[in-house]
Parts: sequence; structure tokens; C-alpha cells
Amino acid sequence: MKKTIAGKTRNEWLNEFALLKDIINYEEILWLNQDSKPLNKRQKNIAKKIKEADDRLEKFIPYIKKVFPEIKDGIIESSLIKVVKMKDSIEDYFQQNIKGDIYLKCDNNLPVAGSIKARGGIYEVLKHAEELALQHNLIRKTDNYAKLASKKFRDFFSNYQIAVGSTGNLGLSIGITGSKLGFKTTVHMSADAKDWKKELLRKKGVNVIEYKSDYSKAVVEGRRESARNDRSYFIDDENSLNLFMGYAVAAKRLKKQLDMMNIKVNKRNPLFVYLPCGVGGAPGGITLGLKNIYGESVHCFFVEPTHAPSMLLGLMTEKHNQISVQDFGIDNITEADGLAVGKPSGFIGKEFSNLINGVFTVNDKNLFVMLHLLTKYENIFMEPSAQAGFVGPLRLCQLNKGKEYINRNKIKNINHIIWGTGGSLVPQTEKEEYYLQSKVYI
Ligand SMILES: *Cc1c(COP(=O)(O)O)cnc(C)c1O
Repeated sequence: MKKTIAGKTRNEWLNEFALLKDIINYEEILWLNQDSKPLNKRQKNIAKKIKEADDRLEKFIPYIKKVFPEIKDGIIESSLIKVVKMKDSIEDYFQQNIKGDIYLKCDNNLPVAGSIKARGGIYEVLKHAEELALQHNLIRKTDNYAKLASKKFRDFFSNYQIAVGSTGNLGLSIGITGSKLGFKTTVHMSADAKDWKKELLRKKGVNVIEYKSDYSKAVVEGRRESARNDRSYFIDDENSLNLFMGYAVAAKRLKKQLDMMNIKVNKRNPLFVYLPCGVGGAPGGITLGLKNIYGESVHCFFVEPTHAPSMLLGLMTEKHNQISVQDFGIDNITEADGLAVGKPSGFIGKEFSNLINGVFTVNDKNLFVMLHLLTKYENIFMEPSAQAGFVGPLRLCQLNKGKEYINRNKIKNINHIIWGTGGSLVPQTEKEEYYLQSKVYI
């Protein structure tokens, strides 16, 4: 019998999707979702819960201010900036005009975790701590949560464990926040995770378990190990609604920033948002939040490495987490460690596919080109994963498919938002190493 992939042979898949050949050949592509639709009823109901997450974070402000004084006003947020020089330099390097302005959402500077994972990770840890403290009658919902920072609570939380599987940044976020509250924390790290991330966590007293295999395996092992201990709570990157809600809060905050900057958003002058995608939770949550606010006036694109296009394959084949890049001989090896995920979240793919307007892929070379340009012309450092979004506006304006998309939607002007996802915790020596590496391509 012929080997099949989620019920079909490789050739059957290739015949069904013309784009698949290019994907397997590691070419940069744009896939447009023909089934994109506004929020359905179920999604509207989930979106209602975003407010609950927002309210909970607000309730934790006194606590956050106490233990993380570096978080301004106790609100975990990043700036939105216009990157004119970056736009010019991309146009120059690729010899391509880009329609509209380009903005950078600086989640690379999010406090505590230095990446987008600060949003979801910190939220889920805080929520779990609140639940435990409520269950044991140690707090009431009306209390000032600053008291959770006391020794009494740290001692209490030290009886409990939090575990997570990660390619690096989620581990940093959970490890740093969890140990601050007093939890025992265990991070199951995939082979892609950078050494400095493991070292930083160990210094903070986090138990780091290393795997020689990729992210999916680290999650499976972490989940299994955690299930053996009834005082252990596993933060499940592939399925967690809490993480997702923490990410989704970003949309409301972005709207505030756009309003302050007087950037109008409507159908003819839409926002195009480019979100680097690993397992899909962060871009998925932000997409739900944005679509809930702006409807069809926002176009959300995920961006994945050519060597790890897992969400793309899941969406295109509609097989979601039943399919992996390795099934098609794609190796999942990329310098974009935060996006090195071979199998996407089934939760995001199945529940929210209609909200995703399309997926771009980007090769490692172009991640380094963007890293070079952004460092040189804007003096902003972001890790390779976080550079992924910059190919979006470029390809949108360059490829026929992209141009047709703009015309079909009768778009007059575009404000592009590149979601910068990680970078500020990267040690100086690593930053210099990345920059050196990027020079090869210039
Ligand atoms: C995790 C991560 C992402 C993507 O988030 P997912 O929830 O895994 O899709 C993007 N960029 C960086 C730097 C990350 O660490």
C-alpha cells in the first residue's frame, strides 16, 4: 500500500493544490484564503471574553507594579512607530515600490519576556495563580491583588508547579513570571531553543529540560510529565484558550494607539497586519481581536518560514494539526527559532481559519536582509523570527496575486502593520553575531 498523508497520497495532494509544489521546494509564496469570512456567532461569543481578560489584567496592575517595576503603569504594552527609513530601504534593496505607510508594532520590546509571549504567557500564569488563591480562600475577588507579592503567597505557590513546552520565548515568559510568583517552573525546550534562553531561565531557578527533537515532541513530553503530578499545571501552547485571550487583548490597545495617531481605518483605507506564526496562538488571538473591532477593514496575514509552513499546510489542506511539514519532506529547520513549528495548533486552524486572509512564507535569507536593514537604518534590533512580517507589504505590491487582491478589494490606501515579536532580551553578543551573519546578503 502507498504511504498516505492524512488520507491522500502525496501525488493526490500535489494535484489538488498547485501551490504545494512551490511550498515543498521552499519557495516564498503567498496563499490567499478563498474562504475568508467575518466573525461567526461562535467567534463573536469567544470575542466577548476578551473583555474578561482585559479586566483581569487591570485587576493585576497593583501586583504587576510591585513585582515588575519596569512595566510602565503595570500595563504590558508596546509602542507603534512609523518606520519610514525601513520602508525606503526595503524599496531600495528589492527595487519595488510599496503602496502605503509601514508601521512597526514593537512587541520585541514588551517588558519582562522581551517578546509577544509576554502577552499570553503572563496572562495565563496570573490567571492560574488567582484561581489557586481563590480555591484556597486566600484572596477574595474584591481584594487588592498587590498582596499576591507577599512571602505568604510565594510560599503557597511554591507547592505548585507550572510546566510548558517551548521553542524558547514562551518558556522565557512562563519561566520568568512563574518563578516571580513563587511557582516551581519546568520548561521543556525543543532543539531549536537558543542556549542563552536556557541559561537565563536556569539562572532564575527554572528547571529546563532539553530535547533533541522539535517543538511538537517537547510539548507532548511536557504534557505527559505534567499530567503525572496533580499539583502541576501545563500551559498548552497548542490548545490554551487563556494564552489566546491574553494575546487577543492587544487589539483593543492597538486601536487606542491608532486613534491617538489619527490613523483612520475603513474599507477603502484598511489596515494590513502581518503576524509571524509559529503554532498560531499569538497571531490567532490578535487576529480575532482585530477582526472583532475592524471587521473587513483589517486584513490579517500570517507569515511563516519557507522551512516551517505548518499553519499554511494545515489551512490549505484543511487538515490542520493532522498534518505536519515533515509529512511533505519539509525539514522545519530555520534560524527563525520562534517559528520552527512543524505542526500547527488544531484549535486555531479549525476555529478561526475564516479570519485569516492569507499566509506569506519567507526564507531565512530575507529574514537576515530585513534584520540588516532594520538595524542599520532604524537602529532597532529584532530576532530573525520577528522580521518575518516585512516581506508582507513587499510581496503584496510585487506579486500579481497581491496586486489583484488590492484591486479586488477596491483599496485606496493601506496602512501596513508589521508585528515585531521578539528581540529585546537577546544578549548583545548574539545581536552582533546576527548582524555579522546578515552582512553576507548585502
Ligand atoms: C512564539 C513566537 C511567534 C509566534 O507565536 P505562535 O503563538 O507560536 O504562533 C512569533 N515570533 C516570535 C519571536 C515568537 O517567539
